Amino acid sequence: MTQSMNPFEPPAGGLSLYIHVPFCERKCPYCAFESKVPSVGERDLWLEMLSKELEWWEKRIGKPSLSTCYIGGGTPTVITGPQWVRLAEIIDSHFMFESDAEVTVEANPNSLKADHLLFWRDWRVSRVSIGVQSFDDAELIQLGRLHSAAQAYEAISASLASGFSVNSDLMFGLPGQTFRNWSRTLSQAVKSGIDHISLYQLTLEPGTLWESMPEQDLSDGYLPYRWAQWYMPRKGYNQYEIANFAKEGHESRHNINYWEEGEYLGVGPGASGFLKGWRYKNISGITEYSRSLDRGGSAIASGERLFGEKRVSEAAVLALRMSKGIDREDFSNKYGALEEKKIIEKLSRFPEDLYDISEKRISLSSKGMRVANRIWSELV
Ligand code: SF4
Repeated sequence: MTQSMNPFEPPAGGLSLYIHVPFCERKCPYCAFESKVPSVGERDLWLEMLSKELEWWEKRIGKPSLSTCYIGGGTPTVITGPQWVRLAEIIDSHFMFESDAEVTVEANPNSLKADHLLFWRDWRVSRVSIGVQSFDDAELIQLGRLHSAAQAYEAISASLASGFSVNSDLMFGLPGQTFRNWSRTLSQAVKSGIDHISLYQLTLEPGTLWESMPEQDLSDGYLPYRWAQWYMPRKGYNQYEIANFAKEGHESRHNINYWEEGEYLGVGPGASGFLKGWRYKNISGITEYSRSLDRGGSAIASGERLFGEKRVSEAAVLALRMSKGIDREDFSNKYGALEEKKIIEKLSRFPEDLYDISEKRISLSSKGMRVANRIWSELV
C-alpha cells in the first residue's frame, strides 16, 4: 500500500504541533524571528485567529493525537494568565495528546512568573525552554535583553523546582566576548542544574537592528564551540545534535522530529509546517494573518512539495545534524541505494577525520560538526 501524499488528510501516527506566539516585550537588536511588541487587544486577536486557524485544520485533518507540542515565539510568557487558560482550551479542543506527549513552552527570565509555572503544571507542559543567552550582565545589556544573570538563574531554579525538564539557550560569537566570559557562562549553566542546553552563534540577520554591523566586530565562534564540545560531555551533557546538549533522557523529542523529517503542523503568523512531503509557510504579520482567517480563508502563504535531489539532500543534512547521523538501511529504503552512495561519495571529498561511516550509520565526527557549514554546501 502506498502512503498518501495529500497533506490535507488525517496523519497516520502521532503528530507534532508548533504554535507561534508573535509577541515580545521588546525587540532584541539581533533578532529576525517574527515578533513584535503587542498593541492593545492584539494578543486576544491572535488567540481568536489561532482558534479559527485550528478550526480550518480540523476540517481537513480531524482531531489528531499529538506526540509533541511546542509553544514558541516570540515570547510565550508575555501571554497573561487568563490568555494562557484560553490558549490551553483552544489547543485541547482541537487535539488529543498521547499519554507521554512532550509539551514545551518557551519563556524569558523577566516575564516568567510563578503563576505561569503553576498553570503549566496543571495543564500538560513538561518542558520549559528559557532564553538565557548569557550569564554575564554586561553581555546581556549589549544584547538588549531585559533580564540579569541573577534573574536567569532564578527562572531556571523555579522551573526545575516545579518539576519541568529545563533548557536554556546560550549565545556565542558576541562582539568582544572573551573566552573567559564564554567558559564562565557555560559553567554557570551547568551549576544551575539545567537539563538541556542549546547553543547559538550570533549572526547578523537582514532586517534586524544589527544587520549592518561589520562582520569583523563579531568574535570568532570556533573556539567557544569547540570548548562546549569538550566541556559539556564531561559535565554529563551529551551532544546529540550540532547545537544541542542534554542530560540523558532530556533530549528534545520535538526537535528530533524535525531532524528526522517527521511531520508537523505549524500555526500562528509566519509559522511553517511539513505534512506528507509538503512544506508550507504561514502569512507573516498579525494583521495580514488575521485578515485572511477573518475572511474565512487559510493562514497559508506558500507551499512547496519537496522531491528528487532536493528532498534527499535536505533529509541527509537534517540527519547529519544529529550525532547518531543517518541510518543507512532506513535512508536507502526511503531514497534508494544510489542516493545513499552519492552521500558517501560527497563526504569522501573531505578529510577522513570529519565523518564516520560504519556498516549501519553515516555521521559527522565532533570535528566535522565544527565545520558543518562547509559540508552542507557540498551536500546540497
Ligand atoms: S526575546 Fe527572543 S524572540 Fe523576542 S525579540 Fe528577543 S530574541 Fe527575538
